[in-house]
Amino acid sequence: MKLNVIIPVYNEEGNIKLLHKKLSDALIEIEYELIFVNDGSADNTSKRLKDIYNEDQKHVRVINFSRNFGKDAAMYAGLTHTNAEYSVIIDGDCQQNPKYILQMLKYLEQNKDIDQVAMVNKERKKESFLNKFLKKSFYKFMNIISDTKFVIGASDFRMFRENVVSGIISLGENNRFSKGIFSWVGFNTYYMEYEVEERNSGKTNFNLFKQFKYAFNGIINFSVKPLRIATVIGFISSFGAFIYLIIILIETLITGIAVPGYASLISIMLFLGGMQLIAIGILGEYVSKTYLETKKRPVYVAKNKLGFNEDIL
Ligand code: UDP
Ligand code: MG
Repeated sequence: MKLNVIIPVYNEEGNIKLLHKKLSDALIEIEYELIFVNDGSADNTSKRLKDIYNEDQKHVRVINFSRNFGKDAAMYAGLTHTNAEYSVIIDGDCQQNPKYILQMLKYLEQNKDIDQVAMVNKERKKESFLNKFLKKSFYKFMNIISDTKFVIGASDFRMFRENVVSGIISLGENNRFSKGIFSWVGFNTYYMEYEVEERNSGKTNFNLFKQFKYAFNGIINFSVKPLRIATVIGFISSFGAFIYLIIILIETLITGIAVPGYASLISIMLFLGGMQLIAIGILGEYVSKTYLETKKRPVYVAKNKLGFNEDIL
């Protein structure tokens, strides 16, 4: 088996038929399997997938989740079901042209020293200035605070050799920040530029709020530096307080009058109180992640599968 295509889909009823056609056309000369992971869609995605499976049992495999577990869980499920020399992840909304799959494949076949090809978005035309700015700032910030490297615009549209897939699925964490994991596992990655197309139908699942949540999750998952903030600020403010104390003592000794300080006292108290709460909050984020990981819950729960050998259909 040469190529596995993993397609995470969540409410993509209007896109998957077209995507199946596009993929079938593009991959006609290749030995391939398409693994659709239906991430608990609430629309007719499940029905459409069944139709596609009935039409094309040779190539189509389906994993239906019991509920929505998120794109990272869907990608993980797909990767754990691969058995090919190469595996590629592609979105289910036709934003990523399957022609690039052939380019990635060609590149990996020609360059034996490269293990992973990641597609890097040229700018999305419709993306707002604010969104672009926030994304860039996030990547810059991540590269400062994390030891794992993050490339601006690198997408989940990637092709891996078998050994990279084994590496990725060997990471047993429940809360999966895939962008970090793909880089953390190492190997030689080639970043290839591509142009993102507009969504065929439906709308994005990642609004600004979800993107913030995603970014925050990434920071907590791939860096422990925020935990150091409290220590550093604690040291700095104690040192400042000590110096200020000496100044006040000297002033009082020289002038003999106690220095009035109501306003400064209140502002310093509020500032430090705020800092303490932030520090506790950050600590809480890490503790809660640890708590959730200790439960060792599975990354996803599958409702049923179509097209896999071990299935009873
Ligand atoms: N997706 C998913 N589970 C989710 C959200 C999204 O499997 O909870 C899938 C979605 O169906 C699509 C891909 O992840 O195939 C990318 O999502 P989307 O197009 O909404 O993100 P964007 O392209 O806007 O970043
Ligand atoms: Mg999309």
